[in-house]
Amino acid sequence: GDYGKAYTAISIDVDANEETDDQFKELFEAPTLDTAVNYLSGVPGNPSFKIFFDPEKSINTIIVCGVDSDLLITTNQYVIKAHINAINNGVRILKKITGIDNILIAVPENMMQDAAASGAEVRTVDSEYPSALPHLMMQKISGQVVPAGKSCEDLGVCFFSAEAVVSIGKAFDEGNIPVTKILTFVDKNGAKTLISARIGTPVHEILSACDVTVNEKDRIILGGPMTGSSIYSEHHPIQPDTDAVMIQDGKDLALVSDYPCINCGECIRICPAKIPVNMLVRFLEAGKYEEAAEEYDLYSCVECGLCSFVCVSRMPILHYIKLAKYELGRISTAEATNA
Ligand code: SF4
Ligand code: SF4
Repeated sequence: GDYGKAYTAISIDVDANEETDDQFKELFEAPTLDTAVNYLSGVPGNPSFKIFFDPEKSINTIIVCGVDSDLLITTNQYVIKAHINAINNGVRILKKITGIDNILIAVPENMMQDAAASGAEVRTVDSEYPSALPHLMMQKISGQVVPAGKSCEDLGVCFFSAEAVVSIGKAFDEGNIPVTKILTFVDKNGAKTLISARIGTPVHEILSACDVTVNEKDRIILGGPMTGSSIYSEHHPIQPDTDAVMIQDGKDLALVSDYPCINCGECIRICPAKIPVNMLVRFLEAGKYEEAAEEYDLYSCVECGLCSFVCVSRMPILHYIKLAKYELGRISTAEATNA
């Protein structure tokens, strides 16, 4: 996996006559946070119930994301249009089990009418990328700037995707745990198709259903073109937070290079976090991660990928940034363990 992490993959055959046990059915009529975290943490949309059990976080606002965070993805916007009643029920349940009344729903301006029946207070965000990334959305909606190294949750705000809220609404309405994920499939020509697939479905089944042939050097991405991750096996499963599957033709790939930075400044001009990316990348290339964090704002990066996209030297800047955060995270975990 990413960063050389090993993982164990198992495959599960689905029985045509499958049965579900009755445990959730016995509990769904009296919704609680314990029931939600125990039974619904892996439903489509990947709701983050565990945050409400973290003693260091005091959540007072929930933002339901009716915008998709990356380019080309339309999953959550579709969900708002198609399942507004389930969202309304999900918002009602969330208020009840968390005790939080301040629930907002963020949608693009052209979807205000669709979101009006959600039961949440409607707020609009720009549809222009990267406005729907959590830190930027929070700044637009509440005016709060998330300090470097802090998370939105540290400031009392957590995010649920619209699909997660639909899953909650349906589960507590029907007594069944949802397992079908909605996702956007983007083919080699950039054409989009909305698909529903059971969580755990291998990616090759989606490619086959869409009549797509994978050739050598084609790239398969889970997520969108700016922030998604390449996968190296078509057996990779659809997960509760897989909002998109993309395939890029090997002939069209924007390859990275090891050319040096030429100080053109394009990355600085486009960075929404106002980071001196040209300086940051020099430290990251040299593996000087602590200096990059202390002097060049590594932790202010919201991982939008725009710097990599515009870099004329085709440097893999976002990959350097993610690797640096991962390595620094490993060091601080090791220090905490040995303390
Ligand atoms: S990914 Fe690049 S452009 Fe985006 S916030 Fe981070 S440094 Fe700035
Ligand atoms: S866009 Fe690339 S080449 Fe230009 S300043 Fe930034 S890192 Fe350097």
